[in-house]
Amino acid sequence: MTKKALITGLTGQDGSYLAELLASKGYQVYGLVRRTSTSSLERISHLGSQVEIVSGDLLDQCSLMDVINDTEPDEIYNLAAQSYVPLSWTQPALTAEYTALGVSRLLESIRRCKPDARFYQASSSEVFGQPDESPQTERTAFRPRNPYGVAKAYAHWMTANYRQHYHLYACCGITYTHESPRRGAEFVFRKITSTAAKIKLGLAKELRLGNLEAKRDWCYAKDAVRAMWLMLQQEKPDDYIIASGETHSVKELVECAFSSVGLSWQDYVSVDPEFYRPDEPVQLIGSIDKIKNQLDWQPEYSFAHLVESMVEYDLKKLTDSQV
Ligand code: GDP
Repeated sequence: MTKKALITGLTGQDGSYLAELLASKGYQVYGLVRRTSTSSLERISHLGSQVEIVSGDLLDQCSLMDVINDTEPDEIYNLAAQSYVPLSWTQPALTAEYTALGVSRLLESIRRCKPDARFYQASSSEVFGQPDESPQTERTAFRPRNPYGVAKAYAHWMTANYRQHYHLYACCGITYTHESPRRGAEFVFRKITSTAAKIKLGLAKELRLGNLEAKRDWCYAKDAVRAMWLMLQQEKPDDYIIASGETHSVKELVECAFSSVGLSWQDYVSVDPEFYRPDEPVQLIGSIDKIKNQLDWQPEYSFAHLVESMVEYDLKKLTDSQV
């Protein structure tokens, strides 16, 4: 029988890759999309009829129950959130509505309408905030340091509590930063690869960045969604860290991106205090021992491959748009 999956956050980076993966495995995929006056379906337009759009909103419990009743999914992946950290400071209550309470509404809808559905909650390394230990494991204490991290911590514990109390098959994947050509340009990875491509093509002259020493554990989004799917195929539900298991600095990223187009980064990059963060998390690096040992998962794509393929993608996109 054809398996059915419902994805929230379908139009985002992870949602689009997950929809692709599930469609390739023969799933009927439903994507929960908020009604807006402008279309936001560009990341999934190539999937055509493999994905059916259903209308609903994490702010509206009835809409979630209707969607679950109508689609009867075997698996539900909650990838929707207000996920931009700086915005979580200017709109903390709205961030909590989507990122925290939205998960309560979804869990409650599953419990009432389709308690045998398997549920994946997109947790985030932001729950660790300023962690006591590095690398972090599934047992590291949560010390979120921004409203987004606080909201994700709430969602994480609600998911774990529904698993324990109601015996739902519910899992949290604690993902670290993951990137792809579909990543928004406000994030540093894409900002660097697209600006390096622009400079190479003579379309930009400089790249202004914040803290070059900031480090992140960057993974390819395609690797991350494969882990999400694997988590829902196990005998028992559990929580796992999904990461690359290594960190790289913004400076290394810049070096790698510029050298991939034959340029020396020092000639183009300057530091601008505008892009400094007031609270920089320290040493966010995930231990992938558990997921490696229990699910036999590890990233297929290296950091260098990710940087080079994104620069290549940005070069092609810019060249095509000039023709
Ligand atoms: P996130 O903070 O993990 O959600 O992802 P970002 O891509 O926005 O930022 C990653 C890191 O890059 C942070 O530690 C930033 O301080 C650092 N960074 C340095 N320069 C910039 C910049 O110009 N823009 C952004 N967004 N981040 C920068």
